[in-house]
Amino acid sequence: MKVSVDADVCYGSGECAFRAPAVFGFEEGYGFVLPGRAESGDDELIRDIAERCPSQAIRIDGKKVTD
Ligand code: SF4
Repeated sequence: MKVSVDADVCYGSGECAFRAPAVFGFEEGYGFVLPGRAESGDDELIRDIAERCPSQAIRIDGKKVTD
């Protein structure tokens, strides 16, 4: 499954990059998925981070993740 960040919604907490620096980067106030890591959406940790994103900016297969 694909993970992505909607930059229009991200408000820059930096939490995703702090918790999974191998998958997420943080630059100029926004989180983003590192090149080549978009297929990380099946990972439990990534799903958990998506659920806890304070602005629900992280998408799995293009959809919002709620708990
Ligand atoms: S956890 Fe969510 S709000 Fe925080 S930087 Fe990542 S995508 Fe943006």
